[in-house]
Amino acid sequence: MVSFEIVRGDITRFPAEVIVNAANKYLEHGGGVAYAIAKAAAGDPVEYIRISKKALMEQIGKDFIEHGEVVVTPALRLEKPGIKHVIHTVGPYCGGIWDEDKKEKLRKAILGALRKAEELGVKTIAFPAVSAGIYGCPLEEVVKTFKEVVKEFGKEAKSVEKVYLVLYSERDYERVLKALAV
Ligand code: ADP
Repeated sequence: MVSFEIVRGDITRFPAEVIVNAANKYLEHGGGVAYAIAKAAAGDPVEYIRISKKALMEQIGKDFIEHGEVVVTPALRLEKPGIKHVIHTVGPYCGGIWDEDKKEKLRKAILGALRKAEELGVKTIAFPAVSAGIYGCPLEEVVKTFKEVVKEFGKEAKSVEKVYLVLYSERDYERVLKALAV
């Protein structure tokens, strides 16, 4: 049984064994949570981009990832709160539009990270609201998709026990709580 919990917080300080980055396909970490993770992990975000791109070539064999493909990088300075790995995944770009295609791409992005966490043998994994920031997917739909995918993943999980969705802003957190209450 895998449990799913929505919490408010900063993922760069979240005590899960794995944190997930809402990356772009080239792992450039230019803004949003990706920049925050790159800066917190390596001090210099440019250095973490270099590490990520090297890992991308080694693990995927090309210079970009598709939805569902993921790359693992070391936690470096993030080891302080107990983080062991960062898994980079790419969600869909929505620009305010939500449909079955976006949902399927997000599903793949979430499931890819969960399966990699399983491979890494960890018990806890924390996600940001992938695609709900710069990529402009509706937060409520993103949260709903997370809940469904974690439930689906529960049938195959052996190692992973706890999945967190870490919402950064108080506003997002309140919004989600309200949406879930109805
Ligand atoms: P995307 O391009 O996939 O939309 P963003 O980084 O723009 O990714 O945003 C994804 C989500 O991550 C947004 O809801 C944003 O508020 C949130 N976020 C930004 N910084 C952090 C952080 N330090 N911890 C957790 N979530 C964060």
